[in-house]
Amino acid sequence: MRLSRFFLPILKENPKEAEIVSHRLMLRAGMIRQEAAGIYAWLPLGLRVLKKIEQIVREEQNRAGALELLMPTLQLADLWRESGRYDAYGPEMLRIADRHKRELLYGPTNEEMITEIFRAYIKSYRNLPLNLYHIQWKFRDEQRPRFGVMRGREFLMKDAYSFDLDEAGARRAYNRMFVAYLRTFARMGLKAIPMRAETGPIGGDLSHEFIVLAETGESGVYCDRDVLDLPVPDETVDYEGDLTAIIKQWTSVYAATEDVHDAARFEQEVPAEKRVHTRGIEVGQIFYFGTKYSEPMKAMVAGPDGAEVAIHGGSYGVGVSRLLGAIIEACHDDAGIKWPESVAPFKAAILNLKQGSEDTDGACEQLYRELTAKGVEVLYDDTDQRAGAKFASADLIGIPWQILVGPKGLAEGKLELKRRSDGTRENLSAAEVLAQLT
Ligand code: ATP
Ligand code: MG
Ligand code: MG
Ligand code: MG
Repeated sequence: MRLSRFFLPILKENPKEAEIVSHRLMLRAGMIRQEAAGIYAWLPLGLRVLKKIEQIVREEQNRAGALELLMPTLQLADLWRESGRYDAYGPEMLRIADRHKRELLYGPTNEEMITEIFRAYIKSYRNLPLNLYHIQWKFRDEQRPRFGVMRGREFLMKDAYSFDLDEAGARRAYNRMFVAYLRTFARMGLKAIPMRAETGPIGGDLSHEFIVLAETGESGVYCDRDVLDLPVPDETVDYEGDLTAIIKQWTSVYAATEDVHDAARFEQEVPAEKRVHTRGIEVGQIFYFGTKYSEPMKAMVAGPDGAEVAIHGGSYGVGVSRLLGAIIEACHDDAGIKWPESVAPFKAAILNLKQGSEDTDGACEQLYRELTAKGVEVLYDDTDQRAGAKFASADLIGIPWQILVGPKGLAEGKLELKRRSDGTRENLSAAEVLAQLT
């Protein structure tokens, strides 16, 4: 992508409305634009990151055996009356009427709809276990939308729903999602700690929130420092096999949100020097809720003995759009964002430090062609801004690798390769830069 043809509306000034660094940087880097309170347009740079995050979530859901479908954003109120949640949900639900005065709502979550789909088709235990997910926009009319995409009203969520014959099966499904979440967040360069949590309006008796520790987070949390160093399973993890050892390792170290925190247990189990009490960002939550939806909504299957039983369910959410904010909170410095490579909008930026000069233009064009041909996503700053402004923009938008192409270096056949994460620089030939980035 040539910057001269890209749409990157960088802001020079710090937007006053942004209270936390991730919101500030997303606005300054031209990633999002607020269209109404908590409702954002995703500009090209922001959308590229959102798609990367979505794809990592998708790959790890698929690996764990979940199947993707896509449900609509609008749902019938009557469906929610079946579970009793239409009245219970309160003012966070956006209620809509169509021209026939039928009551609809913009989905804040999808337990009812997926249960409706399930019961229409699945009648036998032979079709279980089943886990269906989608990645779809949700709407919650939050009392205080704030912090940009962290607490939006319209936001992108991955939500998965598992169906099993009994509690033992449902717990295995829960464990698969638990492990998939560990992997998902680790791939984005995040340490997200599973913490015991309250179940809230989703219901049920077993739940973990996945929390990224950050002072700007909205949840109070308590944990044992050791939980920060536990190993995340690699991609060879066997989802068909027994995952209980992994779950045990992660859940036997103290980690809880303040809603379920047990001060006496904390003090008894965790030595004083390992006690962490801080704030965090909830990037995902998983629930086992048994028959809470299947009983009232009659999602029944015939078991091996022919008797009809209500299925045991769980649901599993990831805040896809919130993750952009969480990653920036974890990865930035005074100059801007430092994207982990796995979610970066571009892997590399070429900065032509003397646009219009024959040698730098020629070297940049060739490098741009070669990197693009090798499948490297590269943003070529071919604008006529001065070098200082190009450095500042590249740092702000957080591209992991910057290739600085200036006349002095070129005279000696060298380019400068700067790594955004730690600022290290190396003088390399074009061939060496190519080798390093491909
Ligand atoms: P919160 O406690 O932050 O209000 P929640 O517990 O209500 O979140 P869940 O119902 O567990 O949210 O939804 C699954 C995930 O969706 C959350 O873990 C979070 O990452 C994300 N999420 C929830 N509400 C929002 C929001 N208003 N804006 C952005 N992401 C959100
Ligand atoms: Mg909420
Ligand atoms: Mg919550
Ligand atoms: Mg939650």
